[in-house]
Amino acid sequence: MKLVSYWLDTAKPAGDFRRTELPARADVVIVGAGLTGLSTALHLARDGADVVLLEANTVGWGASGRNGGMATPGLAISFPKAVRRYGADRAVAMFQAYNDAIDTVEDVVATEGIDCSFERTGRLTLACKPSHYRGFERSAEQMRSLAGQDVQLVPRSRLSEEIGSPYYHGAMVDPLGAAVHVGQLTAGLATAAAGRGVSIHEQSRVVELVRRDGYSHDVRTDMGTIRAGQVVMATSGYTGSATPWLRRRIVPIGSFIVVTEPLDQDVVAELLPKRRVASDSNHLLYYFRITPDNRLLFGGRARFAVSNRDSDLKSGRILRRGMVKVFPQLAGAGIDYCWGGLVDMTLDQMVHAGEHDGVFYSVGYSGHGVQMATHMGKVMAQMLGGDASANIWQDLRFRAVPGHFGPPWFLPPAGAFFKFLDRVS
Ligand SMILES: Cc1cc2nc3c(=O)[nH]c(=O)nc-3n(C[C@H](O)[C@H](O)[C@H](O)COP(=O)(O)OP(=O)(O)OC[C@H]3O[C@@H](n4cnc5c(N)ncnc54)[C@H](O)[C@@H]3O)c2cc1C
Repeated sequence: MKLVSYWLDTAKPAGDFRRTELPARADVVIVGAGLTGLSTALHLARDGADVVLLEANTVGWGASGRNGGMATPGLAISFPKAVRRYGADRAVAMFQAYNDAIDTVEDVVATEGIDCSFERTGRLTLACKPSHYRGFERSAEQMRSLAGQDVQLVPRSRLSEEIGSPYYHGAMVDPLGAAVHVGQLTAGLATAAAGRGVSIHEQSRVVELVRRDGYSHDVRTDMGTIRAGQVVMATSGYTGSATPWLRRRIVPIGSFIVVTEPLDQDVVAELLPKRRVASDSNHLLYYFRITPDNRLLFGGRARFAVSNRDSDLKSGRILRRGMVKVFPQLAGAGIDYCWGGLVDMTLDQMVHAGEHDGVFYSVGYSGHGVQMATHMGKVMAQMLGGDASANIWQDLRFRAVPGHFGPPWFLPPAGAFFKFLDRVS
């Protein structure tokens, strides 16, 4: 079993951007080469900006190369909850932003000719309890009547049309959901950005931002210093000590994934006959999909812990048991890959994008960043050019996590709380 991301292991890298000499200055310095950073760089370069992209590790090394590869419609919170919290008009606009975000991925993939198996498979959301299915009925009604979203309900009696599992109590299908090979997507964005002149530097960790005036900063890295006209932090769940204000506002939660050996076509047709991207209704949810080469990718927040080698292995064992509970047919299937990564949660589970102390940022996708991080790259490029109108998240209050000044000590109690919610909900 390989302890690396299946996506990164099976993608053709864009190139080797290590040991490249840093320029002395740039119009814009972007920190983090995940989907946010790569997409921001590409969109800025399309507009003619001189852009430097700094990555502490390698392109796609963070959550962007480690996720489930699901570009799904809908916010990280349920639609009814968004309506209660923000009012109907605002909730609809936020909901629509996720549809726009999937369109952005589709558009950038087509425009740049990125071969990343993007496919509108549809999203399948599965009810873990009968009460959760009743919640889907209310949700679907509101999504149709307020947002005009074409979601369909699938009662338990018809569930075998969607999934070969005895575990669930009904489902909701949104046809706009898409599957994508995120290793190929990040590599393709890097190729496109580099082709437009973006200077990409891997293994270049930013250690300090020294403000000069306005938006201008000296960006100190372990490879030298660059003078930047503007700086964008695109570090999400990996945000560190260079930006303490931002770090205090992000809860980095480990999410873990196992991938089986390639499965026979008839097994795949039984597990997920329409190859939809799927997740369930628990707080500590499972998510799964079929990979382009017919493996089952199965993920979840197996443990409330950060991701590292030991943690990933323990989580992999827990997830395998979960996978067999959902799909007993896979009791004998081998696991070829197991890895983990950090999800960038915020206290309100909403995206936060804006500017603080002269530094721009877009973070907090709360497990829904494949589409939104790519989309926010386009929005950030407009914002840096002075047009913030497309940044629908700009007026949300971005609250710090009380007592969070360094490593997230609060993950085990938070995990116990969510387990409790899943038992009683
Ligand atoms: C296991 C897992 C499964 C997920 N599944 C899904 C899914 O199916 N669908 C979905 O929509 N979302 C999913 N997500 C969430 C999604 O992957 C993220 O929201 C999204 O990739 C965030 O992209 P990003 O570019 O903002 O950050 P990242 O991809 O995390 O990139 C941040 C980068 O910043 C770099 N960095 C940090 N600090 C510095 C520094 N000081 N100097 C230089 N570089 C630095 C890091 O090395 C990293 O590469 C999942 C996340 C995980 C972890």
